[in-house]
Amino acid sequence: MGGKAILMICDGLGDRQFKGRTPLQRARRPNMNMLASKGITGLMDTISPGVTPGSDTAHLALFSYDPHTCYQGRGVYEALGAGLELEEGDVAFRCNFATVDSRMVVRDRRAGRITGVGEVLAKELNGQKVDSCGIVFKATTEHRGVLVLRGEGLSRNVSDVDPHEANMPVLKSKPLDGTMESKRTAFILNRFTEMSHEILAEHPINVEREKKGKPPANIVLSRGAGAYARLDTLEERYGIKSACVAGGALYKGVARAVRMDVIDVEGATATANTNLVAKASAVKKALEDHDVVFLHIKATDNFSHDGDINGKVKMIERIDKILPLLMKTGAYIILSGDHSTPCTTKNHSADPLPIVIYGEGVRVDDVKRFDEISCMKGGLGHIRGLDVMPIMLSLIGKTKIFGS
Ligand SMILES: [Zn+2]
Repeated sequence: MGGKAILMICDGLGDRQFKGRTPLQRARRPNMNMLASKGITGLMDTISPGVTPGSDTAHLALFSYDPHTCYQGRGVYEALGAGLELEEGDVAFRCNFATVDSRMVVRDRRAGRITGVGEVLAKELNGQKVDSCGIVFKATTEHRGVLVLRGEGLSRNVSDVDPHEANMPVLKSKPLDGTMESKRTAFILNRFTEMSHEILAEHPINVEREKKGKPPANIVLSRGAGAYARLDTLEERYGIKSACVAGGALYKGVARAVRMDVIDVEGATATANTNLVAKASAVKKALEDHDVVFLHIKATDNFSHDGDINGKVKMIERIDKILPLLMKTGAYIILSGDHSTPCTTKNHSADPLPIVIYGEGVRVDDVKRFDEISCMKGGLGHIRGLDVMPIMLSLIGKTKIFGS
């Protein structure tokens, strides 16, 4: 047995019943239902029952990396996803350009969602040093960026300086354990934050913005510390070549952490206007020289966080339409999500996800529809995220017998 496989993950796909039906149940989804009819279905807890997954830990589990031992903190995946090369011991953060007043109270966490100036401002910060620790700073999209502290004796056990809401003072980062490394990292992060304010407040771009009455991007607020440590790669683990097709930096980052080839697709945006056909074509092309291709679609989660049931239903219907393109490749298709995000609660939840596996030789069960309720009766039963990769690799003939 041989073959290729597509691991298709719709972010926040799982949901709860609202007036009797989940968004998946409401959506016209003939192709998802065809996968269910001709495939094997079940439920999946990405981490374990009752545990609400973050998107980062969920994807590690789906790639077969136990997040309890492999998770390095969000900042690492944001930095890798932004295209930075990390070194062992680097401590990385996700950042916002923000607006503070003269008393260091945050007036706008996103500096008016600035666009087009992040790169110019980042140049002033990148390459600086704080207490002999190197500063790598890269602007990403709109008001967002990533910060990497590079040097000896750093720790990820430090608190955020970002207060996470407006009209609150910028926080002092604190060490979260008693080590010298954490104390030093908190000191450096606080000093960097002050320095970002000193440098950015006087930058001509911000002087100009203030003149026009726009919120200046006069500070960098950091959060989500992560410490980079090299993981064994998917190729080292299983001898497979794998690729990632995704729009969001976080997903590209987790994929890069396990050394998938990240394929940049024009028009893949991690929002509802993403070009799904371009992504499906990129998957088809990537299958030519990869065994496994991970396809990530973000917008289902965005609608869920907004509590927009109709938006989520329509997004599922759009996703359904690209399935024939993927089915034509002849690859196995594994379709699920990374966690549930019920539109009714607008937050991630621990509810398990429906999962379907379609392809040559799977044991076809009686389930004819792809949704949270129908898949309860499926032949896969109830699996965990860590099981997905081994099941997929055994189907494509990439696992060895255990024993003899
Ligand atoms: Zn997610």
